[in-house]
Amino acid sequence: MGFFTDTSLCIGCKACEVACKEWNDVPVDDVGFRATSYDHTGDLGASTWRHVAFIEQTVPVGQAADTAPDSLVAEAMRQQAEVAGVEPHADAEGLRWLMSSDVCKHCTEAGCLDVCPTGAIFRTEFGTVVVQDDVCNGCGYCVVACPFGVIDRREGEGGAFKCTLCYDRLQDDMQPACAQACPTDSIQFGELDELRERAAGRVEALHERGERTAQLYGEDPGDGVGGFGAFFLLLDDPEVYGLPPDPVDPTRHVKANWLAAGAAAVGLSAGVAISILAGRE
Ligand code: SF4
Ligand code: SF4
Repeated sequence: MGFFTDTSLCIGCKACEVACKEWNDVPVDDVGFRATSYDHTGDLGASTWRHVAFIEQTVPVGQAADTAPDSLVAEAMRQQAEVAGVEPHADAEGLRWLMSSDVCKHCTEAGCLDVCPTGAIFRTEFGTVVVQDDVCNGCGYCVVACPFGVIDRREGEGGAFKCTLCYDRLQDDMQPACAQACPTDSIQFGELDELRERAAGRVEALHERGERTAQLYGEDPGDGVGGFGAFFLLLDDPEVYGLPPDPVDPTRHVKANWLAAGAAAVGLSAGVAISILAGRE
């Protein structure tokens, strides 16, 4: 089970953030004016398990008129600017908003889970990744092992916290609070195979409508974390949303390094044995 977040449908209302906080009793985080964006809740963290990013992106106003529009939003902005007879940007560039509700990816190969020394992080019967607060000792190993910077320790409490994909609600056959609250179905919950199929159809439809940079992020089980349990449809490259383009579970390198070290040790032992035997002859 997992999430498909279709960012092309997000209107930035932040109902998902509020529903998450309310259901999971997550304390108020660092809310305030940031002077960089209208987004006032910052980033994912120990007390922000869903975060709706507002990305302001400039697009050339004139360019969209000559060719098929790069985005429907860009085209709408261009037309509005033309009708109003004004330049929406001082340097003759338009602006579009990309809204994206980010969350823990519930990785198939989860670095946080792999490195946890106490077994506080476990994989549930739904395939999701959950932290048990009463077992977590606050060592913070998981924080550095997450390729997305999702999980974090909460100041004052010490332990690590992140989205549970509403584990308690799933056990009661309910959908996660954020998916239920989302008024536009930007957040969809269900069986991953079914969600992937739906997402592929949605990308195709967007491409046909001229949204040529629409793309899926994290739907491929062959990626560096074995596929996300919470994947996304983005309207631009992942970097634009502050997401790593090719995330890799860091413990993959650890496993490879141990294998290489083991092979080197065997080779060294064999070399020593051969030279000892050769010395006796
Ligand atoms: S996104 Fe980070 S915190 Fe979430 S499961 Fe993957 S490694 Fe763990
Ligand atoms: S509830 Fe839905 S539309 Fe509103 S911010 Fe969250 S994802 Fe976007």
